[in-house]
This record gives sequence, C-alpha cells and structure tokens, in this order.
Amino acid sequence: MSEKTIPYKIYLEENEMPTQWYNVRADMKNKPAPLLNPGTLQPMTAEELGAVFCDELVKQELDNDTAYIDIPQEILNFYKMYRPAPLVRAYCLEKKLDTPAKIYYKFEGNNTSGSHKLNSAIAQAYYAKKQGLKGVTTETGAGQWGTALSMACSYLDLDCKVYMVKCSYEQKPFRREVMRTYGASVTPSPSMDTEVGKKILAEHPGTSGSLGCAISEAVEVATTSEGYRYVLGSVLNQVLLHQSIIGMETKAALDKYGITADIIIGCAGGGSNLGGLISPFMGEKLRGEKDYQFIAVEPASCPSFTRGKFAYDFCDTGMVCPLAKMYTLGSGFIPSANHAGGLRYHGMSSTLSQLYADGLMEARSVEQTAVFAAAEQFARVEGILPAPESSHAIKVAIDEALKCKETGEEKTIVFGLTGTGYFDMYAYEAFHDGTMTDYIPTDADLQPGFDAIPRFPGNMM
Ligand SMILES: *Cc1c(COP(=O)(O)O)cnc(C)c1O
Repeated sequence: MSEKTIPYKIYLEENEMPTQWYNVRADMKNKPAPLLNPGTLQPMTAEELGAVFCDELVKQELDNDTAYIDIPQEILNFYKMYRPAPLVRAYCLEKKLDTPAKIYYKFEGNNTSGSHKLNSAIAQAYYAKKQGLKGVTTETGAGQWGTALSMACSYLDLDCKVYMVKCSYEQKPFRREVMRTYGASVTPSPSMDTEVGKKILAEHPGTSGSLGCAISEAVEVATTSEGYRYVLGSVLNQVLLHQSIIGMETKAALDKYGITADIIIGCAGGGSNLGGLISPFMGEKLRGEKDYQFIAVEPASCPSFTRGKFAYDFCDTGMVCPLAKMYTLGSGFIPSANHAGGLRYHGMSSTLSQLYADGLMEARSVEQTAVFAAAEQFARVEGILPAPESSHAIKVAIDEALKCKETGEEKTIVFGLTGTGYFDMYAYEAFHDGTMTDYIPTDADLQPGFDAIPRFPGNMM
C-alpha cells in the first residue's frame, strides 16, 4: 500500500475491534515468578489471594497458560464509550524533526480520566460487581488510576475508597475533585485511619507519602471491611492482561494498512501500559514469527529497570502484600517528590521483569527536563498536551527518530501516548520557569532501599 493512503489517524471500525485480551504469559518460555506468601515463602494460593482480590481476577492473575480471554460484553460496551483509541501517524512531528523515520502513537488520553487506566478499571470493577461485592479500595499516585476507578465504579454502582499519595492530594486538588464527582471517597496517605498509616507516620513524620505506602493502607482497609476487595492499577499480571486491548488495537490498525513496526516504545511505571502495548507483538517475537525492538522508558529519578535489583520484594511499603519477583529499588524507596507522577513506583511488573531479564526488551532512563522539552516539542506540532509520564516515551521516540535522521534509516516507530497532562500544569510551570531539576539518586541514595529487600535463600543475586 502506498504511503499516501495511510491516514493521519487510523481508526478501527466497530466490527474490527478486538473482542479478546491477549495473555503474553502463555507464550513465555520462562514464566514470571509466582507471588509468594511473605510468611511461608510458598507461592500464594488462589484462596489466599481471594482474601485481597476478586475471585475472577485471582484466576486471571494465576493463569499462565490461556493465550486469549474473551472480554465480557458489558466491558466491551463500556470500551465503546471511548474506544477505539486512534493510532496517529505523527506526520507533523516527523516533518519538524526532518526524519525519514515513520512515527505512530497510540493515544489513550481520550477519556475523562485522561489515561489508559480506564481499560483495567472497568474490568476490575466489573468482576467485583459480578462477585456481589459492596465496593473496592485502592491507592492512587498522580490520581489517574483513582479517577479511572471512580468512573468505572460509578458506572457499575460500586463504592470506591481511594488512598491518594499525600503530595498528589495536596498538589492536585482538581484530580481529587474529579474523583469525588464520580462518588469516590478520597483520603490522603499516609493517614491515621489505618494501623499501617499510623506506623509509617511514626517512622517518617511529615512524609509526603508514596505509592507503596498508599497500597498498604488500601489493602488493610479492604481486608478488614466486609464486602470489600482491593484493586490495583498496574504491576499485576491481570492489569497487563486488560491493558492488552491497547496492543491488540494497535496491531489491528497496523495490520489494516500493512505496516510493520520496527521499534515499540512505552513509558514504564508499574509496566501496565507498556506491557499492554507490546503484548501481542512480544507474542510474535516469542513464537519466532517476527522481531521487534521494545524499549521501556523510566525516569532517572526512579530507575527500577536500569538500576534496580531483580529479586523478590514487597509490593508495598507496609510489607502487607505478597512478595513479587521484579526489578525493584526496594519497597522502602521513597522517590523524591518530583513530577514523574505515575512513574514513581519502586517495582515493576513481574511479567515485564522476566522479559527484560531474558533480554527480550530494553530499558532506558531519562531525565526530567529533557522529558518536558520533548513534551513541549510534541505539543507544539501535534496539538495534544501530553502527560509527563507519556512524555518519557515521546522523548525516546524522538531520540530514535533523530538517530534515523543520521543513518538515513526509514524505521517505523510506534509509541504509547498514555494520556493528557492538563492536571500537571505545575510541572509544566516549573519547566517553563526554569525551576525544574533533574534529580538522579546516587548509588548511596539507593542502597538503603536495596538493604530492605528481604533476604532468604535464592533471593538477590
Ligand atoms: C499511570 C500512568 C502511567 C504509568 O503506569 P504503567 O502501569 O507503567 O502504565 C503512564 N502514563 C499515564 C498517563 C499514567 O496515568
């Protein structure tokens, strides 16, 4: 098909929309390591996980074998409110960069929550409702997950309790109010409502909080309240599964026009958008059908992949959650209160961690001011005002496109544009005023986090 026929935006027709999620674990030779019970160090059973998570989600979490899972009709109906997400050919950015590379981005910001997180929020709320629960609890960092979950819960008439990292609660009052508009209760974390919150406050008075700490609080409330379960917006296998809708649509759109990607790039916080975007392509690579270069992009201030240890660690600061084997900076790592927002998590999806350990994908870390420079460059030519998280992927997409300019290669680059940045204008302001800094932890800064990784035979290389 000739170049000219590729539209500015590739949309799928309703009958071309994926109706199944793809579970990349089914095609992995080395499966992600199982979650362990921190007391016994044995793999968590479905029964143990069922005390925290909804039953159907536990099944999905533990399923390493089923490649395709039908998306329930009610979830497909909800998806129709804001999907398909367009795959946009970044013609204007290409022209501005004067690159022979072809750049595409999958835009997930076209919904009120402003990010891809709604894809999993509706799935998790749906299974909670189906189980007859009263409500769910969760944490939120920058606020996108809490917003997405509150939207999904109000749609399904479920109660939603959100523990919001304190610095975001204070810095992002508008996100908080969007959540309350959708009926959620929002509590700044750490709070005095929970045992674990009290303990963290006693140890770190005045802390601005962290995702790991908000998770501990939300889990405690879920497990001590009748009819409630905890839901998590990233990291877990089930979340990657739901987010595979991003990759399935992207692949269908590329296939529709006979386009083959060379490089696929995504920002990585807990790994859900990246995992979702690359899953079907990684499946092809794992089955030996095609090859792609996959790049995870993380902030230099929270470098789980590029400087973390691949080890079993706690998913939360309070050490109440199961142990997951992942690239981690240690559950005690509290990132600097910079603006990397939703990428400030100490760990990384076990699935992506295994793929990275097996050399199937790469990772890069980028500094904050360079990320905002890329965000601004993108906004000025493509119109969309990107989320700071998404802009990590933009930065590396631009770097790769500029490499093509040097070499003359016409590579096809696809990246995930996970959301919009309207609630991040303080960060943009700091960038414009020149007050934004590039915080990079030293090895000494990281050491206490590593020291807190649990030691047991076979853990930590
Ligand atoms: C939460 C978030 C991310 C990072 O989360 P992942 O689970 O790594 O995808 C990236 N971009 C946006 C806009 C987000 O809200």
